[in-house]
Amino acid sequence: MATQLVWFRNDLRITDNSALSAACRCADDKVIALFVATPEQWKNHNMAAIQAGFIRSNLLSLQHSLAALGIPLEFIQCDDFDASVVEIKRLCDRHGISDIYYNKQYQVNELRRDRQLEATLSPDIICHAFDDALLLPPNSVLTGNGDMYQIFTPFRNRFVSQIQQGIQPVRPVPKARGDKPELTAIPEFNYPILPHDDFPAGEQEAIQRLRTFCRERAADYLKHRDIPALDMTSRLSPYLAIGVLSVRQCYNRLLAEHPDFLSHPDSGAFTWFNELVWREFYHHLIVAYPQLCKHRPFIEWTQGVQWNPEEASFIAWCEGKTGYPIVDAAMRQLNQTGWMHNRLRMITASFLVKDLLIDWRRGERYFISRLIDGDLAANNGGWQWAASTGTDSAPYFRIFNPTTQGKRFDPQGHFIRQWVPELQEVAEKWIHTPHLWAEKQGIELDYPQPIVDHSQARINTLNAFEMARKGM
Ligand code: FAD
Repeated sequence: MATQLVWFRNDLRITDNSALSAACRCADDKVIALFVATPEQWKNHNMAAIQAGFIRSNLLSLQHSLAALGIPLEFIQCDDFDASVVEIKRLCDRHGISDIYYNKQYQVNELRRDRQLEATLSPDIICHAFDDALLLPPNSVLTGNGDMYQIFTPFRNRFVSQIQQGIQPVRPVPKARGDKPELTAIPEFNYPILPHDDFPAGEQEAIQRLRTFCRERAADYLKHRDIPALDMTSRLSPYLAIGVLSVRQCYNRLLAEHPDFLSHPDSGAFTWFNELVWREFYHHLIVAYPQLCKHRPFIEWTQGVQWNPEEASFIAWCEGKTGYPIVDAAMRQLNQTGWMHNRLRMITASFLVKDLLIDWRRGERYFISRLIDGDLAANNGGWQWAASTGTDSAPYFRIFNPTTQGKRFDPQGHFIRQWVPELQEVAEKWIHTPHLWAEKQGIELDYPQPIVDHSQARINTLNAFEMARKGM
C-alpha cells in the first residue's frame, strides 16, 4: 500500500480539487493531507490579519471534511518557504510518502519553492502539480504569434472562443476511504488573526452564496454592480482568493442558471463572467511577466515619476480622513470589514495616486495588509490599472474626479452616511461637498476639509507623468 500526500495551499476545499482527486484515485492507497503555515513569509508579504483568520477558520473546516473522508490533516508551521521545503522532506521520510500532489501557485516565490522541493526530495518521490486555480491555465491563451495578450479585450475574446471548446469538469468530492480519523488540534498560527464576521468559513457557505448570487442577482449585475450601497456583487472574492471555492464551480453554476450567457455579451451574467476573466488575465500576466510579482511597473518609464514622499496625506488616506466623503467611506469600509467594493477600490486607488501623487506600491501594500481577499495578481493588476503603470490600464491623463465619482455612484449618499457617521446630518445635495454645506450653514463639522484641491492636484499629476515620460 502506497502513501500519497496532498499538499493544500490556496485550495482549501474538497470539492473540485484536482490534486485531492488525483491523490485519491487509487482506493487502496493511504492518503494524508498537509497544510504549511509560513508566518515569516506572510509578514514579508504583509498579509492581512483578517485573511490569516479566514485561512485558519477554513483550515479547521477543511480538517473536518477531510476527516469524514478518512484523510488526516498534518500541519507544519515554519518561518518561510526555504524552511518549509526542509520540513516537507522530513514529513515525507517519516511517512514513507511515494507521491506528492499539489495545485500550482503561479507567483514567482511559490514557483521557486516548488522547484526547490522537487530538487530536494529523493528521486523515488514523484511530484504531481496541477493547473487548478484558473479556468484556462497560464500560457494557454495566446496571440497568433504565441505571445501573452497585453490588452484585455482581445484576451477575453480569445478566452471565450477557447472556453467554448470545453474546460475540465467540476470534480466531485472523492469517496470516503476508511474510518474517520481523530482530529488533532491545529496549533495557533504565529501570526495575528482577526475575526471575519461578514464572511463565514466553509465550502458550504461559499457554495450557497454562489448559488444565491447566480440565481437571484447575476441577471441584474450589469445594472447594479457599480453602486456600492446596493451590495449587489457576489462578495465571493475571499473564498476564491484562498480556494474555498473554485472558479470552475463559479463558471458552471453561472452556466447552469444562464445557459446562453456566452451568446449575450450585454447580459448581467456575461458581465459577471467578464470579471472572472479579468481575474484570469491578471494571473496569466504574472506568469508571462514575473517582474510584476516584484512590484515593478509594466510601463517602464513610469519608474521615473517623482512621487510625493509626504507621510501625513498617506496616513489621512489610510484612515479615511481625506475630506472626500466617497474616498473616506470606502477606506473605512476596508478598515472595518476587510473588504471594499470594486468601484471604490478604483476610486480610492486613483485618489492616492492621481490626487495625492503617492507611489501606487504604498497603496498596493496597504490594501494587502487589510484585505480579506488579498491576492497578489488581482491587487497588483488593479493598482497598476488605477496608477496608469500597467498593461491596458487607464491612460495617465484620465483622472477620476472623486467628487463626480461620488455623485455618480452614490447619488443620495447612502453609502457615505453608512461609513462616515460625522456626515449623517448633511443635506443630500451637499453630501459630496460637506465643507461647502458647513460654510453655508455657518457651522463647524467634525470632519476634515479636503486635504487637496482636486483641480490643482490634477495639474501636478499630469506634469509629473509628463516629465517622467519625457525622461526629464
Ligand atoms: P464580483 O463583482 O462578484 O466578481 C466576481 C469575482 O471576479 C470576484 O470575486 C473576483 O475573484 C473576480 N474579480 C472581479 N473583479 C475583478 C478585477 N477587476 N480584477 C480581478 N478579479 C476580479 N480582487 C481580489 O480578489 N483581490 C485583491 O487583492 C484585489 N485588489 C484590488 C485592488 C484594486 C486597486 C482594484 C481596482 C481591484 C482589486 N480587486 C481585487 C478586484 C475586485 O475589486 C474584487 O475582486 C471585487 O471587488 C471582489 O468583490 P466580489 O467578489 O463581490 O466581485
